[in-house]
Amino acid sequence: MAGFDYDIGIIGGGAAGLTVAAGAARLGAKTLLVEREKQLGGDCLHFGCVPSKTLIKSAKVYHLMKQAERYGLPPVKAPPVDFGRVRDRIRSVIEVIQKHDSEERFCGLGAKVEFGRAEFSDDHAIRLDGRSISAKKWVIATGSSAAVPPIKGLDRTPFITNREIFYLDRLPASMIILGAGPIGTEMSQAFARLGTQVSVVDMGHQILPKEDRDFADHVQKTLEAEGVRFHLNSTIEEVKDLGHAREARIRTADRQTQSLSAETVLIALGRKSNVDGLGLDRAGVALDRRSIQVDDRQRTSCKHIFAAGDVTGGYQFTHAAGYMGGIVVSNAVFHLPRRANFTWLPWCTYTDPPLASIGMNEKAAKAAGVDYDLWTEDFHSNDRSLAEGEGSGRIKMLLNSDGKPIGVQILGAHAGDLLAEWVAVLNGRVKLATLAAAVHPYPTRAEINKRVAGNYFSEKIFSEKIRKGLTFIFQFKGRACTLPE
Ligand SMILES: Cc1cc2nc3c(=O)[nH]c(=O)nc-3n(C[C@H](O)[C@H](O)[C@H](O)COP(=O)(O)OP(=O)(O)OC[C@H]3O[C@@H](n4cnc5c(N)ncnc54)[C@H](O)[C@@H]3O)c2cc1C
Repeated sequence: MAGFDYDIGIIGGGAAGLTVAAGAARLGAKTLLVEREKQLGGDCLHFGCVPSKTLIKSAKVYHLMKQAERYGLPPVKAPPVDFGRVRDRIRSVIEVIQKHDSEERFCGLGAKVEFGRAEFSDDHAIRLDGRSISAKKWVIATGSSAAVPPIKGLDRTPFITNREIFYLDRLPASMIILGAGPIGTEMSQAFARLGTQVSVVDMGHQILPKEDRDFADHVQKTLEAEGVRFHLNSTIEEVKDLGHAREARIRTADRQTQSLSAETVLIALGRKSNVDGLGLDRAGVALDRRSIQVDDRQRTSCKHIFAAGDVTGGYQFTHAAGYMGGIVVSNAVFHLPRRANFTWLPWCTYTDPPLASIGMNEKAAKAAGVDYDLWTEDFHSNDRSLAEGEGSGRIKMLLNSDGKPIGVQILGAHAGDLLAEWVAVLNGRVKLATLAAAVHPYPTRAEINKRVAGNYFSEKIFSEKIRKGLTFIFQFKGRACTLPE
C-alpha cells in the first residue's frame, strides 16, 4: 500500500515469525522479517528444542551403553563423557536445520530479512539501526527468555540458563537445577545420565505441575532411580558464590534449612515474554500481566498489530507458535477471520519415558468440574514395548458422559509420536469405534491406542447381558474348560 515500506513487518525470526514470514511472502505480501540475533531460527533451534533433544539422545545412548547387559549383551565399561564432543554434535545438528531457516531461503520465498533489534516508534513504524521502516501491519513474535526471579544473592552468583547449557566447555561434576518444570526435568535426567550429580529444587509438591500427579510421580521415581535428587516443597532462600562452587540455601516443607552445593546452577524457573525495549507503549500495544494481550485472532489491542508465539504467554511450544503464526497469516494476509482454538493442542515432555498429553487430563477435568470416565492400558501389556525393554508406563483416555474422548495422556517410550494418532482422531472427530476397529500393524507400540479404545467397547461387548442373550438365542453350551479352584 502506498505510504508504507512493507505490507507486513515481523519482529522475531523464531517459529512464530518464520511461519508468518513464509506464509505472507508466498502469498505475495511485501514482507519484512527482523531478527536481533545473527541467525534466524529463534530459541527452538539455538537454545531450546533442537539442542535439548540432541543432548537427550546422546545421554540416552550413553545410558543404554551402560545398560548393555539388560539386553543380553556383554557389559560395556563406558569412559567419561567429553561434553565438548556432545556440544559439537549439537552444533552440527543445528547447522543442518539452520539451512531451512536461512536468510537465503526466506529471500527465495520473497521476504526481506534484516538483522538488528527493532523497536516501535509508532503503530506503523519501527526503528532499526537508526533507520525508520514502516509497514501496514506488524507482527510481534519476539519469543521468551528464562525468567530469573529476584533470589537473594543471585545477582552475585554465576548461573546458567537455556542459553548456555548446551554450549558448556565441559561436563559439570554437579549441578543444582532450580525448577522442576519440563525444561528442568528434561535437563536433570540428561545431565544425570551423562555423569553430572544433579539436584532439583522446586517449591511445588510435584514435578511437571501441569501433569497428573501419578504420571509426574512415575517420572520422578524413574529419575531418582537414575540418581537425580529432588527437593520439592522447598523454597530457595539464597544462593552464594563460594568461589570453587555455588551454594543454594533452601527451606524445606518442614521448615528445615538445607544447603546444597554444586559446580553449576541452572535456572529453569519459567519463561518471561520478550517485551522489554520494544516500545509497545508508542505502538499502543497493551500487556496482559507481562505478556502481549491478544484476542482469538491473535490481534493485539492495536488491531493492525498482531502477536504470536511465546510472547503472548500462552502455550509456549514451537508447534503452538507455528499454529498462532498460521492464524496471523489467515487474518492479516488472507483477511479471513480465523480464530485460534487450543482445545486439542498437544504437548510432550521428553524425559525417558516421555509424557505426552492432548486435551484434558484428570487434573484439568477435575479443576473444570467435568465428569469423566477413565480408561487405561499399560505398556507392559504391549508386546513391542516388552521386546524393546520399555514396558514402563501407561495410556489414559478420558471420556465424557457421552462416551466421547476429552483427553489422552501417554507416559511411555515414544509417547509424543504415539499421540499423533490421537491428534488426528480428535481433530478429525473420528469415532472411537473406528479407532478400536482399525487394524494396526503388529508388533507396534501404537497398538496401545487401539487397545485403550477397545477396552471401552470390550466391557460392553463381553458383558454378562450379551453373553446370556447369545446363549439363549444360539443355544450355546457354555464353558469348555474351567481352571481348578
Ligand atoms: C530448553 C528448551 C527446550 C524446549 N523444548 C521444546 C520442545 O521440545 N518442544 C516444543 O514445542 N517447544 C520447546 N521449547 C519451547 C520453544 O522453544 C518455544 O516455544 C519457541 O521457540 C517459541 O517460538 P517463538 O517464535 O515464539 O519465539 P523464539 O523462538 O524465541 O523467537 C523469537 C525471536 O525474536 C527475536 N527477537 C526478540 N526481540 C527482538 C527484537 N526487539 N528485534 C528483533 N528480534 C527480536 C529473538 O532473538 C528470537 O530469535 C523449549 C524451550 C526451551 C528453552
